[in-house]
Amino acid sequence: MGLKVYISGKLYDKDDAKVSVYDHGLLYGDGVFEGIRSYGGRVFRLDQHLDRLYESARAIRLEIPMTKEAMAAAVIDTLKVNGITDGYIRLVITRGAGYLGLDPRKTSNPQVIIITDRIELYSPELYEKGLAIVTASTVRTNANALSPRIKSLNYLNNILAKIEGVDAGAPEALMLNSKGEVAECTGDNIFIVRQGTVLTPPNDAGILEGITRGAVMELAAQAGHAVREAVLTRHDVYTADECFLTGTAAEVVPVVKCDGRVIGTGHPGPITRDLRTRFMELTRRGG
Ligand code: PMP
Repeated sequence: MGLKVYISGKLYDKDDAKVSVYDHGLLYGDGVFEGIRSYGGRVFRLDQHLDRLYESARAIRLEIPMTKEAMAAAVIDTLKVNGITDGYIRLVITRGAGYLGLDPRKTSNPQVIIITDRIELYSPELYEKGLAIVTASTVRTNANALSPRIKSLNYLNNILAKIEGVDAGAPEALMLNSKGEVAECTGDNIFIVRQGTVLTPPNDAGILEGITRGAVMELAAQAGHAVREAVLTRHDVYTADECFLTGTAAEVVPVVKCDGRVIGTGHPGPITRDLRTRFMELTRRGG
């Protein structure tokens, strides 16, 4: 039996799961989304993901046509129908179908889409050895233009940076903000470790406030590591003792090179490895 996809209250076979070509989600990237993981049949931090989804929707004045409780139930039902215990959930809310113009008031019926599938972002080898990333010349969207805190369907800014990474043979690319400070990677948040302190850029740097980032900051504090938000530059990344990325799909992944410079020893560092172990334990405990 093939995978079923939830669209606005109904389940469709994967091949028949479709929305209108007039949907502003397609025409303009007008909508919001979430990427969520399920581990051992338990959805990791579902409430936090739904809070962020509804916040993103609010920021673009899109009213999601169901309650958070109903959304949570629909996510869990869709996983169950597909028999997925360890997998990935993609929640998409579109503005709905309208006419060929920008005005969101001329759309109706925002679509609620829930895709549940399996995911493997990086090979096990990369988790062992660490990633070599590059800095993209594409700057992260200025928050005064479109806040990176909105997880919108318009990911072109990140995709352009991703293309630069792909061209350079790198699995992820670092994005700076318009001030030249480190913001985040195309689909992951970034951390460095300097003299035992775990550092990550603040919201003001122009980042998506990652759920994994939050979980890792909690775990670092519990483990007795000093952890704080700090404005970082590429200099800080190049001279860090350790570096790693966090994200729903990536989990915690070490970075050992940036722009050809070796970070620390060139191998995943002890704090990175400790935090990865703690994070994987947390996913087994259900979040
Ligand atoms: N930054 C960006 C731009 C992202 O797309 C993601 C992945 N959703 C993240 C950071 C990491 O966020 P999270 O830990 O919530 O997946």
